Amino acid sequence: MGVPKKRTSKMRRDRRRAGNNSLKTAVQVTKCSSCGAPTMPHRICPACGNYAGKKAARGTSD
Ligand SMILES: [Zn+2]
Repeated sequence: MGVPKKRTSKMRRDRRRAGNNSLKTAVQVTKCSSCGAPTMPHRICPACGNYAGKKAARGTSD
């Protein structure tokens, strides 16, 4: 089994974690094409339930 030869320094450990955190916290926000509310890409709109210009949410028919 592989065993680390040297203890990872605080700076090296924190730099590695900081690099990974920036990927996790990056959130993209787009506008809904039908109502203009801020939505996440590839998700239905939380305000009107539309996705790609169509009604996609269940139980919200009017
Ligand atoms: Zn919408």
